[in-house]
Amino acid sequence: MAVLEGLEFGKSDFVLLDEVNIEQFMENLKLRFEKARIYTFIGEGVVSVNPYKQMDIYGKEEINAYRGRELYENPPHLYAVADAAYKAMKRRAKDTCIVVSGESGAGKTEASKYIMQYIAAITNPSQRAEVESVKNVLLKSNCVLEAFGNAKTNRNDNSSRFGKYMDINFNFNGDPTGGHINNYLLEKTSNNDRYSHNAVLSALNVIGFSEEEIHSIYRILGTILILGNLQFETDRESVLVVGMGDVSHIAELTSTEPDNVTKSLLYRTVATGGGEVIEKGHSEKEACFGRDAFTKALYERLFGWIVGRINAVIEVKDYNPVLHGKNTVIGVLDIYGFEIFDNNSFEQFCINYCNEKLQQLFIQLILCQEQDEYRREGIIWQHIDYFNNQIIVDLVEQPHKGIISVLDEACLSVGKVTDTVCLESMDVKLGQHPHYTSRKVGQNSTASNRINYILFSLAMQLTQLHPSFLFFPIAVSLYNHREPYYVRCIKPNDIKSPALFDDARCQHQVAYLGLLENVRVRRAGFACRQAYTRFLQRYKMTCENTWPNHLMGTDREAVEAIVTQHGFQDDVAYGHTMLFVRTPKSLFTLEQERAALV
Ligand code: ADP
Ligand code: MG
Repeated sequence: MAVLEGLEFGKSDFVLLDEVNIEQFMENLKLRFEKARIYTFIGEGVVSVNPYKQMDIYGKEEINAYRGRELYENPPHLYAVADAAYKAMKRRAKDTCIVVSGESGAGKTEASKYIMQYIAAITNPSQRAEVESVKNVLLKSNCVLEAFGNAKTNRNDNSSRFGKYMDINFNFNGDPTGGHINNYLLEKTSNNDRYSHNAVLSALNVIGFSEEEIHSIYRILGTILILGNLQFETDRESVLVVGMGDVSHIAELTSTEPDNVTKSLLYRTVATGGGEVIEKGHSEKEACFGRDAFTKALYERLFGWIVGRINAVIEVKDYNPVLHGKNTVIGVLDIYGFEIFDNNSFEQFCINYCNEKLQQLFIQLILCQEQDEYRREGIIWQHIDYFNNQIIVDLVEQPHKGIISVLDEACLSVGKVTDTVCLESMDVKLGQHPHYTSRKVGQNSTASNRINYILFSLAMQLTQLHPSFLFFPIAVSLYNHREPYYVRCIKPNDIKSPALFDDARCQHQVAYLGLLENVRVRRAGFACRQAYTRFLQRYKMTCENTWPNHLMGTDREAVEAIVTQHGFQDDVAYGHTMLFVRTPKSLFTLEQERAALV
């Protein structure tokens, strides 16, 4: 049974730090990691540090302990966040989403899995067969997506290099009726062996893939593998494929002629100034680039097709709102957090932009929606400083002069615009922006054949990624109508050790996940609120004037008596129907007293 933690484990909510600064934040995070407390709240969200060892905290007992409880009644856990999202969905018919972010290997996919398992465990208590089968497919689809979506990267050989967004639909009973998966930003091309062949096959079967479909999947995978390993050589002026055996193999797998394969790998069609169309041979470098782009595209199509098939199975069918009540949704978004490497590419740009948007939404939600509730309840808002990143979002997406529009323009005229011209155009349009730093084309890219290289690769990436790239704002705008809950994952070290907390690596992630800002924004408002009646019910035993029943005029007065007796009157505000508590500290104290009495 989960019990409240003692102080020796540090602060269970970062909002409770005496001062919000990086030193205190890191000290608390490290202490908790070393005491095997991998989760810490920031308000209704949770920060998780990858333990790199099996933790005995995901069993039935824990599930029961968190089910239907308030956040601060138990130690921090993914289950607390999942339950909060589920409660909001069920009690208030809110669409919610759980955003799980962090860098590669930080534990996002594991966290998403535990969240899904929790939701599966607390729903459909009567074990209705239709609901059980929907749950089964939803859970199994994870295995298939992971098996095909995972790609070996040099940072983490098990990381899923796609952002994944999965919706679970619920009926008025709060039971799952179906779901939908959005995949985007699929990236590297190699496959991964985390799931055994048999597990994947059985999952494909459960979901309902036919023998023929499974056979096709493996044929395309074969093509991708051979294609990805093709080499080229230059003989005098012309570029050739090394090893024609592979070419015939690819031709066979894709039911085409070997000639077509070589041609598509070694040539491109270009329009001349006079309107003629000619075939132009690739350089060796271009051929490699083309091969990679082709492999990637093939893989992306295959993956897209698999996702489409799964969606067709889990799609909510025959839902009649009149008969079945309002259909509500919980989304789970698994996405990398801010990434900063020594060399950053377009991919980092996309990821970071998306994260800026998510942070903006977090700020808007907490600050705007909260203010509405305070107004309704007659509470006075006190402003506290935090960094509003709207200005960064503008830098990227402002029409006509944001980074995206400069890139768009440059990509429309590849061949005419050089890297230097593109960078200069950014200088002209964005030079005045306080967060813009001018950049020159690197010193080592002076050779004429390097000119256009950045643009060329950018254009290639844009054409490949554009659909997914466009998905970001769409995904983000989805949240505008959803109540977001956050899980921020941190990778404690790069050697998968359960015992090492690499201070520099962790601090870097805390900074780029914007966690201090999250704490500040959280502290700008009231962390907790509770209706007077519910508050009384739970805590009346901690005060002699309210136990067993209070004789005061109103519940509010009784609550005031409890608050005053425990000395945290400066930490609260009284609304028309509920009590607002600035920091959860006071509630933790009450919880501890209550725990001692029951
Ligand atoms: P990401 O999706 O962020 O790239 P994963 O969720 O795949 O990272 O986690 C990488 C590895 O870390 C997992 O394969 C697992 O070994 C370990 N890990 C992550 N979270 C946990 C956890 N809660 N408990 C135990 N091990 C974990
Ligand atoms: Mg992952």
